[in-house]
Amino acid sequence: MKDGLAEYRRKRDFGATEEPRGNTGPRAADAEGTFVVQIHDASSLHFDFRLEVEGVLKSWAVPKGPSRDPGERRLAMPTEDHPLGYAQFEGVIPSGQYGAGTVIVWDEGAYSTDEPSMAEALARGHASFCLHGHKLRGAYTLIRTRQGADREAWLLLRKREGRRRAAGGGHAVDPARARSVLTRRTLRQVAAEGPQG
Ligand code: MN
Repeated sequence: MKDGLAEYRRKRDFGATEEPRGNTGPRAADAEGTFVVQIHDASSLHFDFRLEVEGVLKSWAVPKGPSRDPGERRLAMPTEDHPLGYAQFEGVIPSGQYGAGTVIVWDEGAYSTDEPSMAEALARGHASFCLHGHKLRGAYTLIRTRQGADREAWLLLRKREGRRRAAGGGHAVDPARARSVLTRRTLRQVAAEGPQG
């Protein structure tokens, strides 16, 4: 069986980082799954958007974070699949390790989709789904805008629903002030506790 997490594991030393080694889970029903948005204060501060698809978390780094405003689109750069357990990961990745820096779980929840297969929709480069999070609620689409081994790019956009006008403003979340949906902590508070163990 193909190990969907081979790249994830290759990049990490699990003796040094507390990130989950992870297993690919049982093949999940395609019609729904969980999603998570983490804020990651690495070499550049960014958001990580992850969707459960077929037992792994499909992942994109979203520099400005997902928008809550209909019609707004955000650049999303694909990263390696992560294990399902990563959705609960919050802490400090030690210096010298891949992705060194602090991680908080900014939002999480379920998603639903009318796509017959999310895996196939993503392979085609166009997937629509609805997020049922604490902070993110509503319809989103991921669209691949550029292909190529190391240059693939996507857009994550908040869909307009009905004829309702956009709330407007395009308010970006300030990642330095944002709080974990799991522990209410900020990046700074998590960083202050440092790597555990
Ligand atoms: Mn990241």
